[in-house]
Amino acid sequence: TLYLWNDQLVDKNQIKIDIEDRGYQFGDGVYEVVKVYNGALFTAKEHLTRLGQSMQKIGMETPFDLSNLHRLLEELVEKNGLQDGMIYLQVTRGTHARQHWFPPADTPVVVTGYTKEMPRPASLMEKGVKAHITDDIRWLRCDIKSLNLLGNVLAKQEATKHDAFEAVLHRDGTVTEGSSSNLYMVKNDVIYTHPATNLILNGITRQVLLAVCRKAGLTVVEKPFTLDELRLADECFLTSTTSEVMPIVQIDNDLVSSGEVGPITRKCQSLFTSLIEQSCLV
Ligand code: PLP
Repeated sequence: TLYLWNDQLVDKNQIKIDIEDRGYQFGDGVYEVVKVYNGALFTAKEHLTRLGQSMQKIGMETPFDLSNLHRLLEELVEKNGLQDGMIYLQVTRGTHARQHWFPPADTPVVVTGYTKEMPRPASLMEKGVKAHITDDIRWLRCDIKSLNLLGNVLAKQEATKHDAFEAVLHRDGTVTEGSSSNLYMVKNDVIYTHPATNLILNGITRQVLLAVCRKAGLTVVEKPFTLDELRLADECFLTSTTSEVMPIVQIDNDLVSSGEVGPITRKCQSLFTSLIEQSCLV
């Protein structure tokens, strides 16, 4: 199994990360997760574009060749013989004696990545999952896919403690997103989700799903909804690269509607699956 280290594919024991890597000391970097279906990268361009945007948003201006990175990821998947799984990829601001301000602009960034086998979550997508409501305590730049995930980690741990698959995060009663996913509710056949502001990560799954939904004639409204509205929802689901379109059938002790996966959620699942099948020739 090979790993990506800067611009090389190497064995794991060849990788050297300095104790003063800024990713390690400050979480000063950004990352992406890309799915692989049938040996093919899914929506890789979109993920790499977002990686570039995240880097720009945190002032990582070092010239960075995203198309070369794309080629390296394809080579990594091929050499590792990955069929169904994911790629994890991160870029840090590099290595420098610890100081909060940025190191000199010519400090090389540090890129690492690896692949992992991961089947599609078929049985969870079939029956749905439980979610747990908790405060969104994160910072005000959730649009950046930052390595700083402490707020997300604490929220997911709360959810896990409550036997839930995901956290429903809210700011003063307004639902933002999940700890590692975007959230949606369906009411009277309309799909609602938080707009892509600084308060959420604009998921790639979110972007492509909303586009296919609109093309298929479903009504999507990008408008925040409250916990009270969520409690009265007909359907609820989440999306992420690894969870795809995941129904939420229970929120804490309450079933969502009847507790069955609803028809709009099923429609979204089938639209998204078609997209995977088309682009990865599954
Ligand atoms: N929101 C947060 C906070 C996330 O961490 C993620 C993914 O990990 C998402 C949303 C979903 O984004 P994507 O669909 O690009 O995986």
